[in-house]
Amino acid sequence: MHKDIDRVLIDEDIILKRLDHIAEKIRADFEGKPLVAIVLLKGAMVFTADLLRRLPIHLEIECLNVASYKGTSSTGIVSFLDKKLPDVANKNVLIIDDILDTGRTLEAVAEKLSDNGASMIKTCVLLTKDIPREDFKEANYSGFDIANEFVVGYGLDYNGRYRNLPFIGVLKQSVYQD
Ligand code: 5GP
Ligand code: MG
Ligand code: MG
Repeated sequence: MHKDIDRVLIDEDIILKRLDHIAEKIRADFEGKPLVAIVLLKGAMVFTADLLRRLPIHLEIECLNVASYKGTSSTGIVSFLDKKLPDVANKNVLIIDDILDTGRTLEAVAEKLSDNGASMIKTCVLLTKDIPREDFKEANYSGFDIANEFVVGYGLDYNGRYRNLPFIGVLKQSVYQD
């Protein structure tokens, strides 16, 4: 545990077991088809490192720096922070993010990669928030459904902190008030 954490939502061993399952599904779907994993930084880096080491397939890894959150709420605008995007023309792409919330991030990234000529686009998230979404309903691969509350750990941050916690947890109210 950590002094700022109110409660652990998903323990590390449960996360890793679930990753075995997701990796097996991706492996079955992409066996024999070269795949480019597009990792959305920084939130998805911990999840991706554990997931992709379970995937013995033909795979390249690229990173994309996007941002939409400030503090604990979405700004609604997705910014691409890289000068140059990875070359995805005629490639099968798996976009990997930490969490699906409003869906704006995956929607914007999928649209951009499609404009850049990707031949197939699938999406993968560790967490899916249980909220109504209009355009982007669900990812092709998802680890866990969670309630609509702000979580940190296992890559997810609050103002840059807590990504290094090995579990998914909920912060104490006092952390937001400081
Ligand atoms: P969306 O575009 O789906 O609304 O938001 C996705 C992005 O918002 C995620 O990549 C993540 O960076 C951030 N986000 C959404 N919900 C949470 C949350 O509960 N905790 C943290 N730390 N980030 C979140
Ligand atoms: Mg993010
Ligand atoms: Mg963040």
